[in-house]
Amino acid sequence: MEIKKISVIGAGTMGNGIAHVFAQNGFSVNLVDIKKEYVEKAVQTISKNLDRQVKKEIIDDEQKNFALDNITGVVGVENTPPDTNLVIEAVSENYQIKRKVWETLQSVINAEAIFASNTSSISITELASGTRPEKFIGMHFMNPVPVMKLVEIIRGYSTSLKTFETIKSLTEIINKVPVQVHDYPGFISNRVLMPMINEAIFCLYEGVASIKDIDTVMKLGMNHPMGPLTLADFIGLDVCLSIMNVLYEGFNDSKYRACPLLKKMVAAGKLGRKSGEGFYKY
Ligand code: NAD
Repeated sequence: MEIKKISVIGAGTMGNGIAHVFAQNGFSVNLVDIKKEYVEKAVQTISKNLDRQVKKEIIDDEQKNFALDNITGVVGVENTPPDTNLVIEAVSENYQIKRKVWETLQSVINAEAIFASNTSSISITELASGTRPEKFIGMHFMNPVPVMKLVEIIRGYSTSLKTFETIKSLTEIINKVPVQVHDYPGFISNRVLMPMINEAIFCLYEGVASIKDIDTVMKLGMNHPMGPLTLADFIGLDVCLSIMNVLYEGFNDSKYRACPLLKKMVAAGKLGRKSGEGFYKY
């Protein structure tokens, strides 16, 4: 099946980035959210991000207009065009919300279409159940989508080889690099990244070093572009905690226990950049 029409469900941070990249590469994109103003705001964000690419001379004005012309806003998942070839779901990271969205899509979208979720931590196998498990896959894009090259392609228990190969080549068509990952908690990205961030928080909690010094070690010593505590603030401490809990519960292994300091900061509402304070003040 040739993929031409794509529906992106959820027009937030990730959804607008995913829509941006597909539209830029000539796909017809429906961008779906629960309210008209959310869809409009997302299109404005895409337009601003395209302007930035024009300024940097990555694209010209004509390419910007081409991308915007390829995007159509839709309000309500039930109004997603049934003839879509691929649905990419990027709604809020909440199992109940995603479950409901997928149930609706299963009843609305043609049976040939592939279903993909951009979840960071929920099991693809679990999301696929009750829909079309052979045609269900994870496409884990990184933030910001127009800039980041990687897409983790997550194969659920029943994902067919054909579905995997279709999505792998599609990822290459949009100039990203696909990596095949099987469906286990945290996939590769968060399974490796989050315990490192959590360990950095343990170092702070145990008084091994200061916030700035922990970050400096990883920046200057390991050549990481930002230190783990800066990165935790950027991701959001609530998101970090919930991913640690997914690893802890998913593997039943105490090595994934969240640092008590991380739990305390989340309880205190110190969530990082988005709340104005985390390990640093913003
Ligand atoms: P976000 O909060 O910015 O956007 C979520 C959007 O989903 C919102 O616009 C919301 O209105 C919409 N939404 C909620 N319920 C809906 C419904 N029933 N129908 C249609 N739209 C609905 O979240 P985000 O950061 O873009 O994350 C989206 C997904 O991407 C999550 O699964 C998250 O784990 C994953 N993800 C996030 C990042 C990141 O860095 N932010 C990275 C990789 C993956």
